[in-house]
Amino acid sequence: MLNLIGKHIKFSKANKTYLKGINLSTGKSWDIATEHMKSIKKRINTHLVIEQRDLCAYCSCRLNVGGRAEIEHIAPKGKTLYPEFTFNERNLILVCQHCNSSTKKGRMDPVTKRSKYYGCCEFSIVHPHFDDPDEHYQWANGVKICIISKSAKATKSIKVFKLDCVYLTEQRAKDLQSEKWKQKIPLSPLEEAELDKALQLLP
Ligand SMILES: [Zn+2]
Repeated sequence: MLNLIGKHIKFSKANKTYLKGINLSTGKSWDIATEHMKSIKKRINTHLVIEQRDLCAYCSCRLNVGGRAEIEHIAPKGKTLYPEFTFNERNLILVCQHCNSSTKKGRMDPVTKRSKYYGCCEFSIVHPHFDDPDEHYQWANGVKICIISKSAKATKSIKVFKLDCVYLTEQRAKDLQSEKWKQKIPLSPLEEAELDKALQLLP
């Protein structure tokens, strides 16, 4: 399930030198197609897959199921938005296509207080690098299938990413089933009940 992202990305010396020379103010620095940029994005991707345990940082569903995972800029990187944070590692996460689609996060701006220091900015949603999900989300009967809000940020995240929609609830139910199956542990009666409830939601 969701976890707080902790460790830093280890860029090579060449990557760091290259990043220092980039003009961030154009808002287009992320899309420069050079070998350096490819290597930087690969490093970010590899680091986040491990840190996020191959799960979407917003909805916790397995990455690359139903579409390719994408590197997401929490504070959007566009020229008129927050181009200065384009390569700030606290602004980068891997997300599924459901959460990054234009009807969910898309280019939504979650920054409620801007600062030139990323760590001093404030956000309206549960921030995967700063906010412990256990402090913001709760689960029906303690089983991680049906999500419940515990804070204003969680309410916002649930609304933006539709974390309580049928699709994500079903994904979590399936993940729980396969996890238990791999561990050869039977579902508890509570888990069975929550799973049944989740599957009944399906059309
Ligand atoms: Zn997601």
